[in-house]
Amino acid sequence: MAETMENSPREKCGIFGVYGLEDAASTLYNGLFSLQHRGQEGAGIVVSDGQNIRSSKGCGLVSEVFSSRTIKQLKGNIGIGHVRYSTTGDSCIENVQPIIVQCIDGTWAVAHNGNLVNADSLRQMYEESGSIFQTTTDSEVLLHILADPIYRHNQHRIARALAQLRGAFAFLLMRPSCVIAARDPWGYRPLSIGKCGNAWFFASETCALKQTGAQYIRDLKPGEMVIVNDSGLHSEMFVDKQQTNLSQCLFEMIYFARPDSTVFGHNVHNVRSHYGCQLAREHYVEADIVIPVPDSGNSAALGYSRESGIPLDYGFIRNHYVGRTFIMPNSNQRKQSLDMKLSVLPDVVNGKRIIVVDDSIVRGNTARQRIHSLRKAGAKEIHLRIASPPTRFPCFYGIDFATREELIAAGCDIDEVRRFIGADTLGYLSIEGVLSAFKNRNDYCIECFNGKRNVAGTQKRSKSKVECTCTI
Ligand code: SF4
Repeated sequence: MAETMENSPREKCGIFGVYGLEDAASTLYNGLFSLQHRGQEGAGIVVSDGQNIRSSKGCGLVSEVFSSRTIKQLKGNIGIGHVRYSTTGDSCIENVQPIIVQCIDGTWAVAHNGNLVNADSLRQMYEESGSIFQTTTDSEVLLHILADPIYRHNQHRIARALAQLRGAFAFLLMRPSCVIAARDPWGYRPLSIGKCGNAWFFASETCALKQTGAQYIRDLKPGEMVIVNDSGLHSEMFVDKQQTNLSQCLFEMIYFARPDSTVFGHNVHNVRSHYGCQLAREHYVEADIVIPVPDSGNSAALGYSRESGIPLDYGFIRNHYVGRTFIMPNSNQRKQSLDMKLSVLPDVVNGKRIIVVDDSIVRGNTARQRIHSLRKAGAKEIHLRIASPPTRFPCFYGIDFATREELIAAGCDIDEVRRFIGADTLGYLSIEGVLSAFKNRNDYCIECFNGKRNVAGTQKRSKSKVECTCTI
């Protein structure tokens, strides 16, 4: 079940950027704070006043990394920020972004959300020709491509560099006097544009725009890069539109994004609520109450309850102040921490037939522990309903379930998963069910459910002619 760092799928990173805003750092802080759910390992901010670049970063939560004094010292009206959860590269301060480098033509900073599937080969190529990398993240390869004389002297430099990358990426780049935003041609990761007065905003999720006072304008198109500088906002496509098939990540909808965000044009709460309705149609069972596993099971449980007519109740209470379980040094402490994180309400579940709704099962250990807690509290029957299909294949695009061995549904059939977890019945939403929320069903990635390799993992490097006219 979600809510634990060992057992839920994890994605790396949230990014946030502003251009043309006095005291940019405090807005960047608030933007990153709103994206904290996308990464808790580290956070960084870099700002520019048009000439001087100032930055601060560290390991931990946004509120731990930046003091109000630090934010005051980050003077500038342009900036980008990042919250990190590592899926490539070690968990250390060097890998906390934005990455800042001094190139022959000045300073570049980069913040990245996603995973580049050809980063290893690009890195090897640059290392063999003498480049020295300062981090172990995949994100840094973009800076090396940009510094490569082959691209540096090309008037379409940034577009040509972006077109070399395969996999999932939402990038924010900063130069002393501009911000550049780019989204991969397959659209795996979300990236939205906002505006407030004359200032431009960029955010991984729209919730961060809303909470920083910006008005949502639109999403970046897959394969688009946007440059904002003192002459305004300019948009360019860095790949030929014709060759891009969409592959938007369904786990953004299922688990990662906040319910108050609009992702890929859909409100996340509404999509999850639809999944709950669909789950009730596909896996109805007689019961006394429906309970969500908070928080990512909330909307789907509501949908299940509405569709089935079975009342919704709160069987788990979440303690928001429990520390991150993945840093607990031993399994006993982690188990205690899990128990503290979600506590069962015996008065609600005792003697009842319960439908438990959660977003996904990855390894299965946490689901097993939750079911055990419900039994201990006196639940008569426990029916687990999962608002996504079984996760049977690893993800290569930035979600942290990297091997099949980590996935319980990869090696076990559904009844074996049920027995391991200890539920009376177990029902997963079908792939058809998860796609039923969307008009254009082919626009979504389902690789971790069906194992069929996506375009980004198979397509050769782009040789398309770029339309970009950027000369930065
Ligand atoms: S494989 Fe799954 S988790 Fe990875 S991008 Fe595709 S839908 Fe998202």
